[in-house]
Amino acid sequence: MSFTLAIVGRPNVGKSTLFNRLVGKRLALVDDQPGVTRDLREGEAKLGDLRFTVIDTAGLENETDDSLPARMRRLTERAVDMADVCLFMIDARAGILPDDRVFAEILRRRAKRVILAANKAEGAAADAGYFEAFELGIGEPMRLSAEHGEGMPDLYSVLLPIS
Ligand code: GDP
Ligand code: MG
Repeated sequence: MSFTLAIVGRPNVGKSTLFNRLVGKRLALVDDQPGVTRDLREGEAKLGDLRFTVIDTAGLENETDDSLPARMRRLTERAVDMADVCLFMIDARAGILPDDRVFAEILRRRAKRVILAANKAEGAAADAGYFEAFELGIGEPMRLSAEHGEGMPDLYSVLLPIS
């Protein structure tokens, strides 16, 4: 059985970097119409011998509001409802921001399963943010570096029982 993983979290934490790493060139399956903002990108992910659908929540990066806008909430809820499991990503270098807590609340109420991932975790500069992530009450965070590909074996072990 295959499953759907949604990558959610506030802008700039590294969601698309992980999406691109998981999907790679198979992103070609998603039509990229120029000039059209796609709020949800869907791709076919490959991680070891696992194959699954991955959803990237995008289109939020241009929001100017400093509170979580309604569109961001709706978009996240839509992705969460489509997914069997959500990867909730925080930026371990930035630490926990108020918006992260809003996402945590949405996920707690709505998601079937949540994997908490502290991204940008390469190097010691990420340690403080990693420890802060425990405060979200979502469980133990996993360390990830989407950009450098660190933590991918851990992600594999977490996803294997779901597959
Ligand atoms: P999104 O808005 O959540 O989709 O975030 P992006 O994937 O666009 O990444 C935002 C920024 O964080 C980019 O400049 C990435 O290069 C950077 N980034 C992503 N993953 C990592 C990581 O693991 N470590 C570091 N240091 N930077 C990262
Ligand atoms: Mg993005």
